Amino acid sequence: MDGAVSGREGDRAPEKVDVLVVGAGLAGLYILYCLRQRGLSARAYEAGSDVGGTWYWNRYPGARVDVESMQYCYHFSDELTASWNWTERFASQPELLRYINHVADRFDLRRDITFETRVTSALFDRRTNLWTLETDRGDVAQAPYCIMATGSLSTPYRPPFPGLEDFRGDSYHTAMWPHDAVDFTGKRVGIVGTGSTGIQAIPVVAAQAKHLTVFQRTPNYTTPACNRPLARDEQRAFNEHHAQWRDEVRHSFAAITGFPLPTKFPDEDTQEERQALLERRWAEGGMPPALLAIYKGIGVDETANAVVADFVRGKIREIVEDPAVAARLCPPADLPIGSKRPPIDTDYYATYNRDNVTLVDVKRAPIERITASGLKTGEADYDLDAIIFATGFDAMTGTLLAIDIRTADGMTLKEAWADGPSTYLGLMVSGLPNLFMINGPGSPSVKANMIVALEQHTDWIMALLDHLAAAGFDRIEADRLAQEDWVDHVREVAEATLMPKADSWYVGANVPGKKRVYMPYFGGFDRYCSLCEAIAADGYRGFTLSLHGGAQPEPQRDADPHEASAVS
Ligand code: NAP
Repeated sequence: MDGAVSGREGDRAPEKVDVLVVGAGLAGLYILYCLRQRGLSARAYEAGSDVGGTWYWNRYPGARVDVESMQYCYHFSDELTASWNWTERFASQPELLRYINHVADRFDLRRDITFETRVTSALFDRRTNLWTLETDRGDVAQAPYCIMATGSLSTPYRPPFPGLEDFRGDSYHTAMWPHDAVDFTGKRVGIVGTGSTGIQAIPVVAAQAKHLTVFQRTPNYTTPACNRPLARDEQRAFNEHHAQWRDEVRHSFAAITGFPLPTKFPDEDTQEERQALLERRWAEGGMPPALLAIYKGIGVDETANAVVADFVRGKIREIVEDPAVAARLCPPADLPIGSKRPPIDTDYYATYNRDNVTLVDVKRAPIERITASGLKTGEADYDLDAIIFATGFDAMTGTLLAIDIRTADGMTLKEAWADGPSTYLGLMVSGLPNLFMINGPGSPSVKANMIVALEQHTDWIMALLDHLAAAGFDRIEADRLAQEDWVDHVREVAEATLMPKADSWYVGANVPGKKRVYMPYFGGFDRYCSLCEAIAADGYRGFTLSLHGGAQPEPQRDADPHEASAVS
């Protein structure tokens, strides 16, 4: 890789830098940019052979973003914004990857990144105040600070169906898609999974394959993306108001704008008014809140939620010609809409009207094994030339826990998270000083526009590093009690909503044995930003700042953090 510097020549001393970064996706790149601006040195490690993270790995047919392109990009530089024109309302994966490469080139970021290298361990020594990273290729690097920019959905999950090694055809996981185009022409293809990924891939694969069999366990609600080319003047108009947009987005619930906020509860409208409004929003399509934020209460009240859920079930029955297939596609009444990640689609339900598509219910008759010639469920054998696993990720914690993160005095992340992830603000873990997470569990992360959220996290960390340097400190640690308060707050916020009801990856239910904890913070991006700002302004309340070594640590605040709860 051009410009990549490796620290792996022989047994030389560890590379020493100011900050270590794990991951060169959208977060890692912005961190490198910010560190460079401050004159701080950095080494980033990236498992892929190039930049891009999610958009580097997820190259499956139909992959595209579901936040409008103009919003789903960096916003830290007006010049950068002006240097790029999106071609579609919802950009495709190739265009997103071109954009990310454009950013890496524009700011010459690759020279701080070691590619094709996975970090295996991270060890903090309180005596030296250094994190030491080791990689699967023998690199060793040290720095006082380490930032995990490892992504929320970066460890693919494939159910351990027996027999995959016997399969004579080709198999794929959507998140490890080959770089060369895959041609399904003339092939009998099976796809397992109908989450956001499956819903994007199914119409595209169906249009190419001889036959597509969809193995569906839980039917999903999806609404029309209404994707379309983006006119240059739309981009120009957006750019002209970029500063204003940045301000608006900071005060929004999910770090996106562009849909009317609800003013009424559903029962304040008549049945006819509700139907007319829902029809209008369905026809306009767009980002998930276009339909989910149509009325107040949809996220918290089952009756309000059912108004939208029933409407979508009605649409499924309207679009899908075979009533038996439509019934199979309708999500059950006990699955609130929005409690699983709400996808948006292009022609998803209509795809089931094609003669070459079959829908198989694997809730009723689960997949038993992969065979030499295809896949076997409890009811039948299916002959297939290719199987696509759109089976998701070990989300939010999987990638962090795959790294042996520990301190020399015996604290390990694995043990700390044995009962589910505990963090303070989704930024730090008590007991692991100077280690930061971007979009970690306990932060808005996957419940917000991820790029706006990663910029907010990175900016907060950079301001903190400035503060530490100016104040003569070199260590920050989250206080245990502040962390416990935060974990309670994250849980209480989620439990007041319908969100934890579904067996989703948000609660880890997709990975057998994973502790059931609602991982993202669902209190709103706006509220979260205000809290982060208030905590920083209050001398980093809930954190202990100190100088390691000779001088005794001098906590800036030694009061019981319960006194001034982080979330008050
Ligand atoms: P996912 O939402 O976890 O969906 C996985 C699918 O695989 C589900 O339908 C699941 O069924 C099925 N599955 C898992 N194990 C199975 C088994 N043993 N037998 C049968 N079916 C099984 O994963 P995803 O679709 O990859 O999406 C993950 C997340 O990535 C999304 O929620 C979203 O945040 C992100 N994403 C975003 C975009 C975008 O921005 N446009 C696109 C794609 C993905 P159950 O539902 O029954 O568990």
